[in-house]
Amino acid sequence: MFETTIAGSLPKPGWLAETHKLWPRWKLEGEALAEGKRDATVLWLKAQEAAGIDIVTEGEQSRQHFVHGFLEAVDGIDFARKVELGIRNNRYKAMVPTVVAPLRLKGRVHATEAQLARANTKRKLKFTLPGPMTIVDTIADSHYGDRVKMAMAFAECLNREARALEADGVDVIQFDEPAFNVYMDDVKRWGIDALHRAIDGLKSKTAVHICYGYGIKANLDWKQTLGSEWRQYEEIFPALAKSRLDQVSVECAHSHVPVSLLRLLEGKDVLVGVIDVASDEVETAEEVAAVIGEAMKHVPKERIQPCTNCGMAPMDRAIAQAKLEALGAGARLARERFA
Ligand code: ZN
Repeated sequence: MFETTIAGSLPKPGWLAETHKLWPRWKLEGEALAEGKRDATVLWLKAQEAAGIDIVTEGEQSRQHFVHGFLEAVDGIDFARKVELGIRNNRYKAMVPTVVAPLRLKGRVHATEAQLARANTKRKLKFTLPGPMTIVDTIADSHYGDRVKMAMAFAECLNREARALEADGVDVIQFDEPAFNVYMDDVKRWGIDALHRAIDGLKSKTAVHICYGYGIKANLDWKQTLGSEWRQYEEIFPALAKSRLDQVSVECAHSHVPVSLLRLLEGKDVLVGVIDVASDEVETAEEVAAVIGEAMKHVPKERIQPCTNCGMAPMDRAIAQAKLEALGAGARLARERFA
């Protein structure tokens, strides 16, 4: 009960990449970079095991950014043709590449790190990929002329990689869709359909992570505008409950999302965020267990997986390590208390 997991990313060690950045520059190159990525992957797998995390990830140590790490492997994108785009409904401006031709996966994207992770842990292994709606929100288009068509083309590419990850021995495939709380109507119209295309034929568990973003300034400012109760999920949870995805990852620690909304996810495993990634203050086991206790009022306990609110990529490494330990300790306490 209360199998623990994390949203996905962990900070890269300072010898591998710039620290405290969402889009860090690598500090190594060539074979040294490849070796550094492998070492960082194994290091974080062992740290998760030691902290008592049950469903571990490779910490996204081999990708510079959670969306662009995937796009680099897709044909049909012109990375030299950068356009300024207001993404997440203009919450941030970013220079993004342009889709200029039919999208097609060049080959495997994450084979090296998935196979390395599988060989280095006996625990259940989760792998994260960006969701189609979030990708479409992070790229310009001069070929498809239609967001839905482009999303389906990306979903096709994602599905190919997801099937290969499953064959590598990955137990849970998670799609990250921070765009899901921005375009609620589109989620219902085509966002979930695109995810269904991405999970087509998979036998492994499938998850979607939706969230209010990393603890970076643009997100913190945006959160200030959302009022005291964040009810955006009320619109999309019923549609997610009807979907073919097995699990939904949602932030609950220090969140303005009313925990009672989790009731709308009936039938799903809920990855309950019990670790705040927007604060450097490390949670106590007691605090973690308290959030689990709150979630239990609305979700059957066998469906709860204590998790982090979001990825920890831009966080201080020592703090991320301490938060992993808090997650493990809090879940142990909750097992004793609520078993
Ligand atoms: Zn997130």
